[in-house]
Amino acid sequence: MFLSFPIDRVRADFPILHQQVYKRPLVYFDNAASTQKPVQVIDAIRRYYEQDNCNIHRGVHYLSVKATEAFEETRKEIREFINARDTREIIFTKGTTESLNLVASSFGKRYIRPGDEVIATIMEHHSNFVPWQQMCLECGATLRVAGIDDRGMLNVGELFGMISEKTRMITLTHVSNVLGTINPVKEIIAEAHKHGIPVLIDGAQGISHLPVDVQDMDCDFYCFSGHKMYGPMGIGVLYGKEKCLEELPPYQMGGEMIKEVYVDHTTFNELPFKFEAGTPNVEGVAGLRAALHYLNELGMDNIMDYEASLLKYATEKLAGIEGVRFYGTSDWKASLISFLIGKIHPYDVGMIIDKMGIAVRTGHHCAMPLMDYLHIPGTVRASFAFYNTMEEIDWMALAVAKAKKMLE
Ligand code: PMP
Repeated sequence: MFLSFPIDRVRADFPILHQQVYKRPLVYFDNAASTQKPVQVIDAIRRYYEQDNCNIHRGVHYLSVKATEAFEETRKEIREFINARDTREIIFTKGTTESLNLVASSFGKRYIRPGDEVIATIMEHHSNFVPWQQMCLECGATLRVAGIDDRGMLNVGELFGMISEKTRMITLTHVSNVLGTINPVKEIIAEAHKHGIPVLIDGAQGISHLPVDVQDMDCDFYCFSGHKMYGPMGIGVLYGKEKCLEELPPYQMGGEMIKEVYVDHTTFNELPFKFEAGTPNVEGVAGLRAALHYLNELGMDNIMDYEASLLKYATEKLAGIEGVRFYGTSDWKASLISFLIGKIHPYDVGMIIDKMGIAVRTGHHCAMPLMDYLHIPGTVRASFAFYNTMEEIDWMALAVAKAKKMLE
């Protein structure tokens, strides 16, 4: 067991964790849906409104300059966090979903023609599925989908077999939000690039669990959301290689993304502003910056080690309950567990353990194609963050065993 992680200090930083629900201490295991925020993030947002609030860019007065500097400084820190080459490659968006829609829409308009193909995987979140599916339908292209094996690992050979001269893009998740599987993205990107095909990585579940180095990975696009990495909701990032972003048309039109506007035509702003139409979420960026500082201080490697120990412990505990079936047992797995018990509906398990103070997610987890593929209605998903403890896992195991007894 990993002993040196400063769990008490960390938990003290998250006010929301110190409450009772149904007269029990809250156990929050719904981190894959959204993480809680440390007091440092909450304070940063408060401080922004108390001291810095102003619309950014182009303002000459003190507050506007101050707010703009903080905003652009955050862009630099994000560049460092994911080791992008240049700040021009960091686009602020509302979140992963908007980032994915941006690429599907702009890339589709620019490159996808009838008869072309896009390759995804069966484990994609709807956010990385529907935008491509709809874009393909509009363009007369085909979305092809690689499957998984019985441990929930991507059939990489099947995916490689789908690559042809028709393939325009490969898009896949870094980490599955249902199975926990960490995909071998580097290997897939290297193979795709041999064929001149760009690769987009949905990093919504990767960014908070793994150190991410976009240059080492060599992905063409990487997307993530602030709220899944201890930052605020409504803010996210699209990373794109400069040469890829340069070639894409703007996604939304409006202020900030223009250079010059005439009655009959417009010239567009340079990167990254070409993709940042309208007033951005300045408050969200302030909070995201504090979240980055928090993660950097803890260290992604320490987080990874501690979460691995939580995953191992929880897997052992749940495996001790007769009838529990796991979905996703890859050796390369982030800290979440999807499971079912016998014929019991996941919703019923979730409802009962909620009354014991435990928040897990039940249902299809925005991955209906995967549920169809697995022939199940959904799963119970317990997803762990670095503020969770072994004692909380003990309590969940007791609660699940009790739910099983009641429902069988
Ligand atoms: N992709 C994956 C793998 C996710 O888990 C999620 C969130 N559940 C998303 C995309 C969408 O993220 P958001 O709702 O923050 O845009």
